[in-house]
Amino acid sequence: MDKEFSIANCEQLRAARRAKGLTQAQLAQRVGCQQSAVSMMEAGRVTALAPETRERIAAELGVVLAGATESPVVAVVVPVAGRAFCTEPDCPTNVPFVVSGVLLFWPRVQAVPGGRHCAACGEVLAQACGKCGAPVAAGACCRDCGTPYVSAVALPTAEPNAWAEARRQQIAAWRALL
Ligand SMILES: [Zn+2]
Ligand SMILES: [Zn+2]
Repeated sequence: MDKEFSIANCEQLRAARRAKGLTQAQLAQRVGCQQSAVSMMEAGRVTALAPETRERIAAELGVVLAGATESPVVAVVVPVAGRAFCTEPDCPTNVPFVVSGVLLFWPRVQAVPGGRHCAACGEVLAQACGKCGAPVAAGACCRDCGTPYVSAVALPTAEPNAWAEARRQQIAAWRALL
């Protein structure tokens, strides 16, 4: 495969992952890479993953990257009753705040079953910590391993506190519409 890997390919892989009901963390685990790398690739950073890793992802998702004629096979995922969160840092269900200069996101936990995609943005809901697999509890970080449930793809260029404050105001305005 020596063709260019384009932003359109990034979007294609993201759509296929969502259609399969996989979180970024689940996909990363299957192909042996970091969730953050999948996240960056899906955000359009075409060099975030090595070509071999992109090919493993395409194979895992049943996607043909160039001139695709067949649609990906859609797996049926049966949700287990429990709690879930949206893994998309830009989703309004994830509220940013800053502790000791570190930007964190507090996800609004959603109940499952009830759907396996985020009602706000369509991302696949995660039902477990992406790092250790512990069930989702309330809060911003896993109670078992301390890993944040949601992490930013790229750090904001603005000062973190100011960025989080402005973002919280946007989210509050969005929620006021509901
Ligand atoms: Zn969402
Ligand atoms: Zn954990």
